[in-house]
Parts: sequence; C-alpha cells; structure tokens
Amino acid sequence: MGKIKRVGVLTSGGDAPGMNAAIRGVTRTAIYYGLEVIGIRHGYHGMIHDHFVSLKAHSVSDILARGGTILKTARSKEFMEPEGRKQAYENLKKAGVDAVVVIGGDGSLTGARVFCDEYYDIPFIGIPGTIDNDIYGTEYTIGYDTALNTVVEAVDKIRDTAGSHNRLFFIEVMGRDAGFIALKSGIACGAEAILIPEVHGQVDNLKDYLEKGFKRKKSSNIIIVAEGDEEGGAFAIADRVKDDFHDYDVRVSVLGHIQRGGTPSAYDRVSASKLGYAAIEALMDDQKSVMVGFHNSELDYIPFRKVIKLKKKVDPEELQMVEILSI
Ligand code: ATP
Repeated sequence: MGKIKRVGVLTSGGDAPGMNAAIRGVTRTAIYYGLEVIGIRHGYHGMIHDHFVSLKAHSVSDILARGGTILKTARSKEFMEPEGRKQAYENLKKAGVDAVVVIGGDGSLTGARVFCDEYYDIPFIGIPGTIDNDIYGTEYTIGYDTALNTVVEAVDKIRDTAGSHNRLFFIEVMGRDAGFIALKSGIACGAEAILIPEVHGQVDNLKDYLEKGFKRKKSSNIIIVAEGDEEGGAFAIADRVKDDFHDYDVRVSVLGHIQRGGTPSAYDRVSASKLGYAAIEALMDDQKSVMVGFHNSELDYIPFRKVIKLKKKVDPEELQMVEILSI
C-alpha cells in the first residue's frame, strides 16, 4: 500500500449520538500523523455526488457534546449498484482521497466491504456506529449507551403513571432486527417482560405471565417490545392480549426518535473518541477492510468479512434472568 496522504471520513445509515466524537477522533489523529482530512457529507450518497469538504483541527471543535452527525448521514440506493460505486471510486481518485473511514451500522460496513472487493487501492476502515448495538465482533457500538439511557429515563417516568393507575403498558423501543436496546433497558427498568425479534412465540408466554401477575394483584406491568418483534410491534401485541385482561387499563407508548437524539453520554464520547483514534492507527499500520471495535473492553480489529457474515446474539441467560427477577 502506498503512503496515505489524504483520508476521507463519512457517517452512513442511521445517525447515532457520539458519531461526532468519532469524527473528531479521526480528524485530529489523522492531522497528528500529517494527513489531510476530507469530510464526505451525506454518507455514500455524498461520495457519489462529490459532497467533499476539507476538515481542519478547528472544524471539529465544539462537537463532542452534540448529538447527530456534523457530516450528515444518508442511505444511498445508488451505492448498492456497481455504477454508483464506480462513480464513487472516480470521485475519490479525483479528490486524491487514498483511504476512507466509514462510521455506520452493518449495512454501511457491508457497503464498505463490497466496495473494497471491487477497488483494492483505497483501503477502508469501519467504525461501528448504530444505537442498536447489533454488530458482530464488537461489544460496543456508538450511540447505544446514550439511547439506552434515554429509554431508561422514559420508562421510569411511564412506570410512575402505570403504578398509580393499574395500567398495563406496552412500550415500543427501537430495534428492527435486534433486541439489545429492549433487553438491556428492560433489565435496567425492571420490566415485567421483554419481547424481542430474536425469540419466537413470546406472546403466548406473556399471557400466562400476566395471568399470574393478575392473580398476585400486581398494580402495574411494563412490557418492553422491540419494534421488529414478529408480532408486529407494541400496538399489535397490546391488541392481542387486551381482551383477556379487562381489569387493566392497557396503554401503548412508542418512544420513537427521541432514542436517537440528545447529547451523547460520557461513555459514548470516550468510546467513540477511542474508535476514531484507532481507525487512523489501523491505517498507519497498513490495515484495510477491518472494523475497529471493543473486545473485553480493549480496542480490537475485526475483518469486514467476519463482521458481515456473523450475527451478534443476545444472551439467552439474560432473558431467563428477566423472568426470574420479575416474579
Ligand atoms: P443502521 O444500523 O442505523 O440502520 P446501517 O449502516 O445498517 O445503519 P443501512 O441503511 O442498512 O444502514 O445501510 C446504509 C447504506 O450502506 C445503504 O443506504 C447503502 O448505501 C449501503 N449499503 C448497505 N448494504 C449494501 C450492499 N449490500 N452493497 C452496497 N452498499 C450497501
């Protein structure tokens, strides 16, 4: 690999609090090593349409505490096609960008891998950026901690009203394919049950469970539902069980996009800064097609190949624990 002089950085897919800390980490570490930095706005869409801006050390001042991403993010259908990627490659060459750091979820990292399989001479390094924490090979993804804390704060508030009115609350949280936010927030809030896409047939168990709670005269019940649950989300599940539990006032709350926003937690800021730094260190070590992540709390490099092929699993013991702790 030739010596890298100019590195591009982009955010792609869903935005996540802490992405700015990663952009800052990438930019300042690259500058430390004498590299020029090009911010690619609007993810892969911007790569195809030349949305390139020069980033200096001061360009990333005062962004650590800001949610969202200063580079904006996007989903790009064009990048899914070979012609789109060819255009992106030509633009990178024209701008003299000879390495790219991609901050995004598994889709964005898949895009990076597909691109690198076609064009070998521009190394890509990935940084896991998604509130879902559903990326294989890393125990942490940027934004997860902040999103989790936002959910916990909201559910705590809902529990106050649930307990005061004998209410059965179905609270829907983000997670189209993965239940990590649901599971961890459910544990943190003492949810009575947690429904996630990874586990099938949970609604039948839920009815049994509620029946028992009803006999014990539980005054409130909080059920956390990941949006991608097989039964179709919190409204659908509430509909299925409400006729059996007339003594409860059944309510549904969909937390929605508040989970993406807000100032990043200290944990997200520190971890995202480390990942930004580590991405440039990886390039300096001549690495390519790897994602930087955390394993046993240590920085780690995982090949894109593995990240994309393998699925991160929820811990079944944690689900079992929820049942034990909520009796
Ligand atoms: P989040 O987890 O927040 O949804 P994500 O990175 O998984 O983030 P996606 O919408 O799945 O979000 O992917 C982002 C972009 O990555 C897509 O819009 C597309 O441009 C690119 N991408 C995804 N899959 C591929 C693929 N198979 N080939 C080429 N590009 C892809």
